Amino acid sequence: MAADLDQAREILRRVFGHAEFRGLQGEVIGEALAGRSALAVLPTGGGKSLCYQIPALVRPGLALVVSPLIALMSDQVEALKQAGVAAARMDSGLEPHEREATWRRVESGELKLLYVSPEGLASEVVLRRLRHVPLSLIAIDEAHCVSQWGHDFRPDYRALGRLADLFPGIPRLALTATADARTRADIRAELRLEDAREFVASFARPELALNAERKIRSGRRVAELVKARPGRSGIVYAGTREGAETLAEELAGHGVAAKAYHAGLDKRVRAERLAWFLAEDGAVMVATIAFGMGIDKPDVRFVIHADPPASIEAYWQEVGRAGRDGAPAEGITLYGPADMNWALRRIAGRGLPDEVRQVQVRKVRQLYAMLEGLGCRAAAVRRYFGETEAEPCGVCDICVSPVEGVDATEAAQKALSATHRLAGRYGRGRIVDHLLGKTREVSPAEAALSTYGVGGDLKAAAWRELIDQLLFEGLLVEDANDGRPLIGLGDAEAVRAVYRGERRVLMRRAMTAEREGRAARRTRAAEGIEPGDAATFETLRAWRREEARRQSVPPYVIFADRTLADIARERPSTLDALTRIGGVGQVKLARYGAAVLEVLRAEEPPSIIDRARDLRSNMSTPEVLLWTHLRGRALGGLKLRRQHPIGRYVLDFYCPEARLVIEIDGESHGHGDQPQRDEIRDAWLRDQGLEVLRIGAADVMRDVVDVADGILRIIGERGPPIVAHRRSRGSPATLPPASGGKSE
Ligand SMILES: [Zn+2]
Repeated sequence: MAADLDQAREILRRVFGHAEFRGLQGEVIGEALAGRSALAVLPTGGGKSLCYQIPALVRPGLALVVSPLIALMSDQVEALKQAGVAAARMDSGLEPHEREATWRRVESGELKLLYVSPEGLASEVVLRRLRHVPLSLIAIDEAHCVSQWGHDFRPDYRALGRLADLFPGIPRLALTATADARTRADIRAELRLEDAREFVASFARPELALNAERKIRSGRRVAELVKARPGRSGIVYAGTREGAETLAEELAGHGVAAKAYHAGLDKRVRAERLAWFLAEDGAVMVATIAFGMGIDKPDVRFVIHADPPASIEAYWQEVGRAGRDGAPAEGITLYGPADMNWALRRIAGRGLPDEVRQVQVRKVRQLYAMLEGLGCRAAAVRRYFGETEAEPCGVCDICVSPVEGVDATEAAQKALSATHRLAGRYGRGRIVDHLLGKTREVSPAEAALSTYGVGGDLKAAAWRELIDQLLFEGLLVEDANDGRPLIGLGDAEAVRAVYRGERRVLMRRAMTAEREGRAARRTRAAEGIEPGDAATFETLRAWRREEARRQSVPPYVIFADRTLADIARERPSTLDALTRIGGVGQVKLARYGAAVLEVLRAEEPPSIIDRARDLRSNMSTPEVLLWTHLRGRALGGLKLRRQHPIGRYVLDFYCPEARLVIEIDGESHGHGDQPQRDEIRDAWLRDQGLEVLRIGAADVMRDVVDVADGILRIIGERGPPIVAHRRSRGSPATLPPASGGKSE
């Protein structure tokens, strides 16, 4: 036994060129060498195939490998031949004389591995011939295809259970990269592996940074994302063939080497494009899920879901095609409530047995719960697959910039109520207009509804997001209505619970804050609000809002924004000082003066400590110090972002207009492999056309004013860009255009 494992190790080194087993490989191989069956769930890139290839070479006889796809088989057979292993495949693509030649090699005992399709194994002729051949083991790859709960269900896989009777005593290995507990139970039952040991590797893929964002103009967004990764190979998944064609054209129009791939294409065209993708550096394949299992290109740097996958299993499999070489890679998913709706409708339309339908519906909901979730995405996926101790990954969008749930129950009540009163006759845009009281050519009947104009406290974008959220939660439902979806109330019991305040609705703060924050900053700049006065200005506005509501008058009749801005800047402490501010007449002074002074008194000017607390907690003291100093200084209207994600890196400070990155290096930067890692990172950033400035943390602590001066000088020298700043919707990993580059 131990001798067998030594021999296995020797083969690993000699044939496959690896020094040591990885992860659970050794254990799974040991089980097969001992002649026992096993079920192994090993992540993509985890060396799954070696788990049967090595025992196949150690044990006497022929190893039968069941694989669902010809492409997958031919890849593996080719790789084995390259390694000098006698392997062949038996599939429908072979000419009769080729089949016969293969059979002769099987029957003479020359072959060590034979790859067959599940359909092939359903043939009585094939089975009869195989029964006279001594077998070393039977490996069933992509074993999750046996489960009817999954998206890859293949009825032919079901028939593989009888191999247990046909070949008694031969160890059978079921392998897959993706299987939750239910799928694993299915595999055991269907493949008759009740007593087999189960090996489930961790699903951690530390090199893979996951991102998800709500879909807004997805075609354009995909082009933006792909262009921000120039020269990188990637896969863009689209939900439909037409979608794949359109996107591929759009990307090609942007100068990206992109081609479409889907089942509607001629077989030869598909083969050509697959070959092109595998060979080309920086190729982008825009594909439906027909482009799937068997794509073993190691240097795929990103997988973008222009339309979301079918389930978390599908998600993990599809994003898992990025970064097989272990270098950093990204999975980015664009999703929206309409996608979820479509997925649910498709399931409903399939006429499935109740139990199957319910499981599939749950899988869709679990996928969207992960995409919409407030926690680490990688950890959510790993928990889904049954890992109990999944730590946050540190590289997904949520780890990089945590989001917080804010209570939006009151707003949700308004939106639900408005939808109810509009009786499901309108789409999202019209409901938002209704809430804002901005419906064009509104009918007197609609204007008379109590919900008309009740939503002035939120911006249109926030209402749209909230309505999406309610759709995700099933509180609202969408009727497709031939592409002009109408929105109506969802689950009545749940809606009532929200009305009664028993069910809270949480919104993600980061998304709303990011977009609104941007708008607010623009507005404030126009209003002449200094960053340091913004909080006071907002407090004054909140007071004004309350006052206006109490009197049932529009806020601006109390004080104009401009007046509030001046008050926020001057901070008058007496009525006399207040009266010198434009817009504060005697009557207003008498009516509101005392209240305004009270608001100002109650609002302590923000101390440096408060400001620091308001910063992300993962900033170091020198970073906070420098930020606080830079923030108050004239940047000439230029933005300076902190903790800004680009690619898989988080930059300490980033000035997009000057294309300048500022890194504050603490003590750790002098030790271990950190200098080398910094170098790789800086080289990558420079490749993106960015200048990197490294400043020692100690220098910041010693003389922050001097350091800040230096930075401002450099920003001044690098100057503002010639081109207009491209909006990136605050997404990670997008880069502004190179300065001097041409505009879109
Ligand atoms: Zn994470």
